[in-house]
Amino acid sequence: MGLIKNASEVAAIREACRIAGKVLDEMGAAVLPGVTTLELDQYAAERIRAAGARSAFLGYRNFPRHTCISVNDEVVHGIAGTRRLMFGDIVSLDVGVVHRGFVGDTAATFAVGGIDPSVQRLLEVTQRALEAGIAQARNGLHVEDISRAVQSLVEGEGFSVVREFVGHGVGRSVHEEPQVPNFVERAGKSPKLRSGMTIAIEPMVNAGRREVRVLNDGWTVVTSDGKLSAHFEHTVLITDGMPEILTCRGKTP
Ligand code: MG
Repeated sequence: MGLIKNASEVAAIREACRIAGKVLDEMGAAVLPGVTTLELDQYAAERIRAAGARSAFLGYRNFPRHTCISVNDEVVHGIAGTRRLMFGDIVSLDVGVVHRGFVGDTAATFAVGGIDPSVQRLLEVTQRALEAGIAQARNGLHVEDISRAVQSLVEGEGFSVVREFVGHGVGRSVHEEPQVPNFVERAGKSPKLRSGMTIAIEPMVNAGRREVRVLNDGWTVVTSDGKLSAHFEHTVLITDGMPEILTCRGKTP
């Protein structure tokens, strides 16, 4: 669909996003040592259904689960299974839902029990990078203003941004134009941001090097150096003023 959404499309996307944010909150509250990732995914499936929506990820290019659950060195697209979360792990939960034909997409990384201060810093920097990106999501600026804000914050803290996976437009499909990278490759080439665009901004931040690889399951993206990775994502609406975070949650962000 078009990059600029009309009022009724925005209203529908806002509702899908509200559901995605609520389900992410509910899933996050269920993150505890001993729980399996499959139990978390099944709980999310139940909550998505209860909200009258369906998963945007289940069946997407044959993805086999309702949500993406990525633990520790897993960056994104982890497939839930028998793995039990352990005290001190971090887990990234990515929730995409479809409600009345429109998508909402959001993610956050949670601590399992207590985590090391250095790991806490990775989560905080990734969250701040998302906020810095959102602050640039304004009518008349360009996608690269978001990209630059994310990249400079992350690299200024000594971490690295993943390049192989990027944010995206959100509408009737989970991945629409424009792409929203977390880095600037060539300045001056990115699309202009306009009121009525709905985009998912989603920094994926590695504690070590930026390189990633995909496991043999064809989905799970892991850091090449085995170090930790965090992921925070919001779907936002570009307005004439400040951006509206559509996937708002009970707790921040
Ligand atoms: Mg996304």
